[in-house]
Formats: sequence, C-alpha cells, structure tokens
Amino acid sequence: MALISILGGGESGVGAALLAKSKGFDVFLSDAGALKENYQQTLHENQIEFETGEHSVERILASQEIIISPGIPEKTDIVKAIKAKGISLVSEIEFAARYTKAKIVAITGSNGKTTTTLLTYHFLKSAGLKVGLAGNIGQSFAKQVMEDQHDVYVLEISSFQLDRCFEFKPDVAVLLNITPDHLDRYEYQFENYIASKFRIFQNADAHTSCVFWADDEVIKAHATTIPTSARLKTVSFHTKADAYITADSIQFEGAALTLADAPLKGPHNAINMAVAILAAHEAGVAYEQILASLPLFENAPHRLESCGTWDGVEFINDSKATNVDAVYYALNSYKQPLILIMGGVDKGNEYEVLDPLVKEKVKGLICLGDDNSKLESHFGGIVPQIFSTRVIERAIIKSKEWAKPGDVVLLSPACASFDLFKNYEDRGDQFKNIVKQLIHG
Ligand code: ADP
Repeated sequence: MALISILGGGESGVGAALLAKSKGFDVFLSDAGALKENYQQTLHENQIEFETGEHSVERILASQEIIISPGIPEKTDIVKAIKAKGISLVSEIEFAARYTKAKIVAITGSNGKTTTTLLTYHFLKSAGLKVGLAGNIGQSFAKQVMEDQHDVYVLEISSFQLDRCFEFKPDVAVLLNITPDHLDRYEYQFENYIASKFRIFQNADAHTSCVFWADDEVIKAHATTIPTSARLKTVSFHTKADAYITADSIQFEGAALTLADAPLKGPHNAINMAVAILAAHEAGVAYEQILASLPLFENAPHRLESCGTWDGVEFINDSKATNVDAVYYALNSYKQPLILIMGGVDKGNEYEVLDPLVKEKVKGLICLGDDNSKLESHFGGIVPQIFSTRVIERAIIKSKEWAKPGDVVLLSPACASFDLFKNYEDRGDQFKNIVKQLIHG
C-alpha cells in the first residue's frame, strides 16, 4: 500500500489522516511538538501510526505524498528535504478536494475571511442546503469529506494553505482584499504573498465564478492574471460592479440591500456582505432568499463586537484586529469620538496609514502591551492624550475616565496578543468580561 505522511497533528492533519486511511492508504502522522489527547485517541482508534516530538525523516521521505499543516513554515529542514527529493507536498485542502463532488466555495483575503465565510455559510444553510463549514474554521475539511453528506462546502482559506494547492478548483473562488500580512513567511516580499493569495484563482475556468473586491489596489493591479474564461463577479464602490456599494445600499442585478437594515456595520462589512451575497448567488441561491436570511445572521465574537454601554459609553471588542488594515476599517466604522486601545506583539507594523483617521477621531490612545514604546513614539504627537499599561483592567478604567457619554471605547489592537494573553480570544474575553462586570456592578 502506498504511504501517505502527514506533517502536523492538529485539526487539519488528523482529519487528513482519517481521510487518507479511509481511502486505503498506509498513513503515518508526524508532529514535532505534542498532540492533543483527543487527537491521539482518534488516531489510536483508527489504527493510524503517529510520532510526536520529532520527524523521522527517512520514513517520511519514503512517502508517495505528504500532507502538510499550514502552521509549518517552508523553511524547516523536513520541508527542505521533501522538496529536494521532489515528493508531492500538498495541503489538506488540496488532498480532500480530490474526494468530494460537492460544490466548493473558497474564501481568502487578508482581512474579513471569517466574517465572509460565516455569512456565506449562513446564506446557503438558510436556503436549505446541506453545507459544510471548514478550512481555517470549524471541523477539518478532510474529515467532513470522509463522511461526505454535504451539497456544498464553504472554506476559509489562508495563504499557507494556498501555497500547497495545485489542482484545487473551487466552483466559487473569492478574494476579499490583499494587504501586507505574514510577511515573515514570504521572505519579506509582498509580491510572494500576493502570488500566494492569487492561487485561489489559478485553475479557474468557464465553470468557475471568481468573486473579488475590485477597488482593492493590489487586486486591481493583478486582476489580469485571473484566467479569462472564468466568470468574473466584482464588488465595488463604482457603478459598473455586480455588487455596487453606495452610501446607503448595495445594488445587485434585480435586487438591493439597504445598509441601515443590515446586521453588520461599517464600509468593510458592506464589502464582506456584498462578496458573500454574490458568492451565495453564484452557488445557486436566489438574491431574494439570501437577503431574507441576512437579518438573522450573527457574527463571530471579537470582531467589532459590542460589549454593552456604560454611562452612555459603548465598549467595542475588536480583539481580532491583529493588523493595521483591520484597525483602519474599525476606525472608519464609527462617527463618534473614540478612545482607542491598541498594542501587543507588533508584526512589523507601519502605522502611518492610520494617522489621518486617528487625528480626526481618537481623543485618547491607550497602549496595552508589554512593550509600548513604538506606539508611544509614533502616536505621541498625534493624539491629545496617551496612556500605557500592561494591565487590561487599568486600560479599561482609564478609557472610562476619558470618555464622555456618546463616545466609543474601541479595543482594536493592530497587534498579536501573545505578550499578555493566551490568544486574541483570551484578550477579547477578558475585555468583555471586565466591561460587563463594571457595567453590572
Ligand atoms: P480574518 O478571518 O481574515 O482574520 P475576520 O472576519 O476574522 O477576518 O476579521 C478580522 C478583523 O478584520 C476584524 O477586526 C474585522 O473587524 C476586520 N475586518 C473584517 N472585514 C474586513 C475587511 N473586508 N477589510 C478590512 N478589515 C476587515
């Protein structure tokens, strides 16, 4: 029996191992770290061999194909050895897509993937389809393909997964936006990251719909690389688009959404909604049906999530804003004066693009990080007042002190959370819980 090795034993790796086993391959899973207890148990139960704490190079190099988890960088020794030997090295997405006949909607972009993926999933599910939700979100795609009971999959796809996609051909391919992110994995070359994102369209043909935000400067500059036979579906603030966003509505062919009635606010969410509506429509659902289900949508937490109002001051948790672009859109989503809480682990941020919005809207900046020096020196001369702390309670108390009724306190960090928190969810949960405690005494 041909051997398939899996590198990385997280949700996608274990799912890939199960699918490969069910398809009759000999399967070996190797993780240089540790494996969660429940994953170990699943592998034992399915008689799948695995190792932890190291990679047995010789054994792995005897594989016919290797499935790599998105968290493993290309510059690790094992990946170099695999490439040198010329063994097929693919993502779980590439592997699993071979084994399903269900339709696939695949969504990528630098920001807004989760929101747009959940929206699209909601539209398709509300239309009565059997929908799988996978990729960077929820249960492994491969595991769901093994049970293959779905009409359609909605996949949130990262650039790391795309890097190892070759034949993957979603029926509806979506690209939201491209701004610099994860450049440490792309030799600090923005063009490499752009090329990775555009792989979502690489196999598009006459049966494929390519949905994208046409005003994005980077997408615009590279749109000619999309195969010309594909159906192009654009979202734009300009009239000619398939989804034309105006100040108060989104216009589709024969349908319209009034933005004031929509459950998500801000211009970036208008883009996300327009993209998701087009994607669901391209997957076969009528506009009327999609728009009827929109009011029932609830977004995932930590994305411009309201935590309540305290003495007339609204507190917003946008902990998922881990890069500058997300903060830019968060600032754009409010007309009220803002107290902004930023900080954490800086991934090489360049804050200049925020300066005009910060000047216009932010009446106080609170830096919440282990090392706040870069934020302090950049924004020191721009905001009227600045306060630094390593303690989230103190950040909240200070923001309340500065805010007047009608103001908004916005946690939108632009940074990763690992200096003071377990992850962005922990940061957002702590913020939310403290605010709620303070509101309810
Ligand atoms: P992703 O899965 O790509 O990280 P999310 O939907 O989780 O995207 O949103 C991450 C952050 O980006 C949030 O702070 C959110 O408010 C912001 N955001 C959402 N959509 C967009 C967009 N289209 N453009 C820019 N920022 C966005």
